[in-house]
Amino acid sequence: MFNENVNVHIELTDKCNALCSMCGRQYIENGELKRVPTFDKNELSITEIRNIFDNRFFEKFNLHRINFCGNISDPITSSDFTSIVEYLKPHCKRIDIATNGSLRTPKYFKNLANILKDIDHRVTFALDGLEDTHSYYRINTNFNKVIQNAKAFIDAGGNARWQFIIFKHNKHQIDTAKKMSKELGFNKFVSIRTQRFARADEWTFTHKNKKYKLEEPDESLSFEISGDVKCKAKKDNEFYLDYQGNVHMCCYLGGSYLKKRFNQNEDAILEWYDDRENNAIENDLSDILLKSEFFQHLQNSWSMLPSTSCKRFCSKKNLRKKLYD
Ligand code: SF4
Ligand code: SF4
Repeated sequence: MFNENVNVHIELTDKCNALCSMCGRQYIENGELKRVPTFDKNELSITEIRNIFDNRFFEKFNLHRINFCGNISDPITSSDFTSIVEYLKPHCKRIDIATNGSLRTPKYFKNLANILKDIDHRVTFALDGLEDTHSYYRINTNFNKVIQNAKAFIDAGGNARWQFIIFKHNKHQIDTAKKMSKELGFNKFVSIRTQRFARADEWTFTHKNKKYKLEEPDESLSFEISGDVKCKAKKDNEFYLDYQGNVHMCCYLGGSYLKKRFNQNEDAILEWYDDRENNAIENDLSDILLKSEFFQHLQNSWSMLPSTSCKRFCSKKNLRKKLYD
């Protein structure tokens, strides 16, 4: 399934300081936003990362791009994060990081820039609006704190990207945010729509006695799901490693695996997934990538009976695309 120049998406922890309402960390019950109580307990340590990405792995694979991101966590919550980046840096060509940017300090981000500036890299800061709108979705984060951290990172030589998720409540601010991103030294500004609206019919809830209503920026584009799956992970030769060391094809299926534990999984393909055989703490990572039966079953499923995630995220006719730039 995987050739030797491999990319990896790593979710280091199950922790986050934010309370974004559409994130899998949260759910809405009786109109109240609630936090899933089982998270905030796990992270891969530097020792585990060293053992997973060991000499045996590097004899068989070259790591091209490492993407520290995730489904339900922020990489900056990792207590070993900078040590992990420093350990993996000589073994890869590029490091990307996605963060809400509202944890840690300008000093931390300055140090991160110093670690990254001699390698191709990009840190994406989630800034969904301006001071008055940003926290409407990214509850528990602070716009000015994110800007201070991003500024420290940029001023120390870091390559930063501003990512703006467009909602009805912030769409009028795209141009101002884009202008601000240039003035602050961000090298890129992207405005995107989220697919998370598809998870529920309505996003109305209260949190700390405040009422919220999240709405699509425009009339919703429908999914057109064909069975015609083009696997992004296979195309990019990328796998996803979760915070417990489980190896998945991609973060979408990793997310389905998480739901399986809460009996909410929609992906029948995961019946084939054995988390003992595909765990890189218990097994050799290169053996998993080269020999896992699951990846073979998954590959076969695309032409026969693709999973819900494969159809939703990698159907050729999926119409949900980036609308603005
Ligand atoms: S910052 Fe990311 S991981 Fe944290 S709550 Fe928001 S969407 Fe979820
Ligand atoms: S959702 Fe399915 S088709 Fe898409 S990247 Fe993941 S495994 Fe591949």
